[in-house]
Amino acid sequence: MRRRFFRELEKTPVADYDYIIAGAGAAGCVLAYRLSANPAVRVLLIEAGPPDSHPFIHMPKGLAKVMADPRHVWAYRSKPEACTAGASEVWVRGRVLGGSSSINGMMYVRGQPADFDAIAELTSDDWSWEHIGAAYAALETHELGAGETRGDKGPIHVTLPHLRDALSEAQIAAGYAMGWSAKEDMNAPTDEVAIGYAPRTIHRGRRQSAAKAFLEPARSRRNLAILTDTTVDRVVFEARRAVGVRVVQGGAAREIRCDHEVIIAGGAMSSPGILERSGVGDPARLAAVGAPLVHANPQVGENLIEHRGLIMQWKLSRDVSHNQQYAGWRLLWSTAKYYLGLDSLMSAAAYEIVGWFKSDPGLNRPDVQILVAPFSFDMANHRQSLEAFPGMHVTVYPLRPGSKGRIHIETLDPDAPAAFEPNYRATEADRRSMIGAVRGVREYVRREPLAGLIACETLPGTACETDDQILDAYDRLGTCGYHAVGSCRMGKDAESVVDPALRVRGVAGLRVMDTSIMPTIPSGNTNGPTMAMAWRAADIILRDWGR
Ligand SMILES: Cc1cc2nc3c(=O)[nH]c(=O)nc-3n(C[C@H](O)[C@H](O)[C@H](O)COP(=O)(O)OP(=O)(O)OC[C@H]3O[C@@H](n4cnc5c(N)ncnc54)[C@H](O)[C@@H]3O)c2cc1C
Repeated sequence: MRRRFFRELEKTPVADYDYIIAGAGAAGCVLAYRLSANPAVRVLLIEAGPPDSHPFIHMPKGLAKVMADPRHVWAYRSKPEACTAGASEVWVRGRVLGGSSSINGMMYVRGQPADFDAIAELTSDDWSWEHIGAAYAALETHELGAGETRGDKGPIHVTLPHLRDALSEAQIAAGYAMGWSAKEDMNAPTDEVAIGYAPRTIHRGRRQSAAKAFLEPARSRRNLAILTDTTVDRVVFEARRAVGVRVVQGGAAREIRCDHEVIIAGGAMSSPGILERSGVGDPARLAAVGAPLVHANPQVGENLIEHRGLIMQWKLSRDVSHNQQYAGWRLLWSTAKYYLGLDSLMSAAAYEIVGWFKSDPGLNRPDVQILVAPFSFDMANHRQSLEAFPGMHVTVYPLRPGSKGRIHIETLDPDAPAAFEPNYRATEADRRSMIGAVRGVREYVRREPLAGLIACETLPGTACETDDQILDAYDRLGTCGYHAVGSCRMGKDAESVVDPALRVRGVAGLRVMDTSIMPTIPSGNTNGPTMAMAWRAADIILRDWGR
């Protein structure tokens, strides 16, 4: 099966490619689809992980199982810091065809237009909302049909949640009682305070990963080859020009060459490491691990920005939550319905309600996101099961933190995940919005009809009241957003890692395109922004080549 799908490299002569893309995640799949759309452009896409054949990848609620499966994830460990209460935090990323889009929560959130205009200010007009809005319209087939910046002919299907229940309706109505707007399409580019059902990358009950949406329609193209279970160790340079990559496949290393460019797309947690192993990075760090020096740039691996979330939970006074639905015969029934092709809890995204509000009424646009769920986790079981009594939860985080961490390799082993320091809440502005976010959520759950369903707050609990106690709760109980960006920062300044056309500074024939290039974090989940920026990147790359 794998042989039929993935053409063997041995059958192709050396340097049979124009582009080599390292990493088949959200960005890599979009790039492969777009670059190989021209039959004259020969593309090789290389993925460290296996094909996406596991059934739990495609079943939306299989997410918890896939995320915990070491065969399908990279597990990155943080160094202990005060902002994680001295503990080491694990951030997983997909290591499979489709990358993190094959293990993510399937919320399709596009970010605010002002995010992209701000990125354009730091880079070039190529990245403004005008272009990114057009990219979204081109890549989507949206259940709501074409609209302003919404598409109906693109490769990726976007749908709205179909299952509605009393608790979810009450959760949305409480937002309206706060004065938050109702939006049929929560992604309509209006930047307003709002709550509603969240669009999802789910189609006919199955996950729409980037692999499903972009590689499936392209897999028969003769000018696209895909290699799985192959780790890119480093970029091969000749006189500071990238001419290929060194890969490790089944324990054996070899070089694969290309005629035009290498594009690194390993994600924000991996791409800086590929650059460092290749000799692009801080000279002292490279020397410490024994990497050669090709170009000195101390910014590689810096500027890591991530959402810091807090899970807030409530015990309910009535049995309206989903907690009981995920056990016993009800779970079996939902699973059977899923396999019969019917809507069921097993075809729901991680969160199906999203809201945006302001932690301070003086702000000109929302700075907090809430993900609202009709169930509550059993924290004693590390979120692997649900509480025995009826409950609900909200994951809340500030949208645009300015605190910056870092990620760097500590060994030359390409399969060893790099070590990182998240450095959450390093700025006063971030701390203020974290505190305002929690207070805003508490005000929200005091609104009817939700208030009448709530017995008490169980997490972080009412004893957590002062500003310091709230920040302490983020440290002890907080969660990453799985949205890290910025570790190969794009900028028009000479210190940035890549220039506004994504070219790695100081060398030739090498670009990066994935979440790592975002100089600031978009307002929301990052899968949509990554795909839209990759779509736009293909325009820029082909424009540069004159194709
Ligand atoms: C658990 C989880 C839940 C999430 N939930 C959501 C959500 O609901 N909505 C949303 O919008 N976003 C969500 N995200 C974020 C979103 O999926 C990512 O922002 C997006 O996938 C990033 O795309 P990327 O191309 O930068 O990296 P990835 O999609 O992570 O892809 C990188 C790929 O490169 C491969 N790779 C890395 N190093 C190498 C190497 N050396 N050689 C070869 N291949 C390599 C990896 O194996 C991987 O396949 C979630 C992420 C995670 C991890």
